[in-house]
Amino acid sequence: MPGFEIFGDEERKEVADVLETGVLFRYGFEGARNGHFKAIEFEKKLGDITGSAFSHLCSSGTAALCTALAACGIGAGDEVIVPPFTFVATFEAVINAGAIPVFAEIDETLCLNPDRLEAVLTPRTKAVIPVHMCGAMARIGEIKAFCDKKGLILLEDACQSIGASFQGKALGTFGLAGCFSFDAVKTITCGEGGGIITNSREIYDLCDQFADHGHDHLGGPDRGADNHPIIGTNYRISELNAAVGLAQLQKLDHILNTQRNNKNAIKDAMADLPDVTFRYLPDPFGDSATFLSFFLPTEERARQVAANLAKNGAPSPYWYDNNWHYYKKWDHLKQLKGSARLAVELADNLPDYKNMKLEESDAIMKRTISMQIMLSWSQKDIDKRIQAITKSFKK
Ligand SMILES: *Cc1c(COP(=O)(O)O)cnc(C)c1O
Repeated sequence: MPGFEIFGDEERKEVADVLETGVLFRYGFEGARNGHFKAIEFEKKLGDITGSAFSHLCSSGTAALCTALAACGIGAGDEVIVPPFTFVATFEAVINAGAIPVFAEIDETLCLNPDRLEAVLTPRTKAVIPVHMCGAMARIGEIKAFCDKKGLILLEDACQSIGASFQGKALGTFGLAGCFSFDAVKTITCGEGGGIITNSREIYDLCDQFADHGHDHLGGPDRGADNHPIIGTNYRISELNAAVGLAQLQKLDHILNTQRNNKNAIKDAMADLPDVTFRYLPDPFGDSATFLSFFLPTEERARQVAANLAKNGAPSPYWYDNNWHYYKKWDHLKQLKGSARLAVELADNLPDYKNMKLEESDAIMKRTISMQIMLSWSQKDIDKRIQAITKSFKK
């Protein structure tokens, strides 16, 4: 997911535009900003790239999730179905909305299993947040069908999957809103930033307001003349961050092509290795190819191959042991440790986070290794990596 690898003159030029004017704020200062509206330009481009009518930038992907949840009216006491394999931000955002994350099993897409949503459905379920992990899609068509049938809000965490699609439609566009992250290690980076896309004018307006203290942005040049139709907070992006993201977004096609080529070279070379099978991709053409994820037949074998890969110079995440991305290590969630009192602490019938057992997810994740695909690999790097992988599979 490495936009940082190709930071260059394009980013420097966009940032210089902002620094020359000294207007770092995305709103107002019309006289001084010399026509530069980096956040607005970035939003327009993000909408175009994803085929969404509206987009709004935030200060992070987490802020985007929080904003989208608020705009969708998800809050106190609502249950939101999320996967146990994701970055902690997904459930943090739900908890910070005052809502209750409820975990459902994943499948060999490494994302929520649409056939396991019913099992955790309750009368309080309000929304489902599938997370398109590691650059590729969940079975999003089926998840959407489930949400439609049950009257649930579908909100996509596509933070890791800009540029990915399912059947030609961008990830993030299947539900009421979709969220992206542009943090330091994502496909497109602007240092810190996030974005929300939606086709709903109403949701867009609420996002635009919520992320800026409820401002309706209708007061003209004088911000003080804006009304505040809702209570919001400050999740604004700065022009400096937006400028970096704008330059990065112009490189998305190049990033995707490079990642896909590099991934295919490695995946093809692995085809004949003993024991290996690959992550199920509902639409292989829509994979943004930030990672190559594969399965070994047993946990023991997966641990062995992961250790060999590290030893042979091709370290690759074994997510089952990961502190940040898999529920097994989320002790802070199990103990509901927060700096403030949390609404979830007060909830009745809270899921038993301490004793969560997601056996199907465990069975998959114990056997999963993911390899990050880099943009800067030369042919020689790829050949070396293939050698390292081949060696690592030897028994
Ligand atoms: C990175 C990420 C986020 C949060 O994004 P930040 O910009 O770091 O706040 C949310 N969900 C997933 C799946 C992510 O990978």
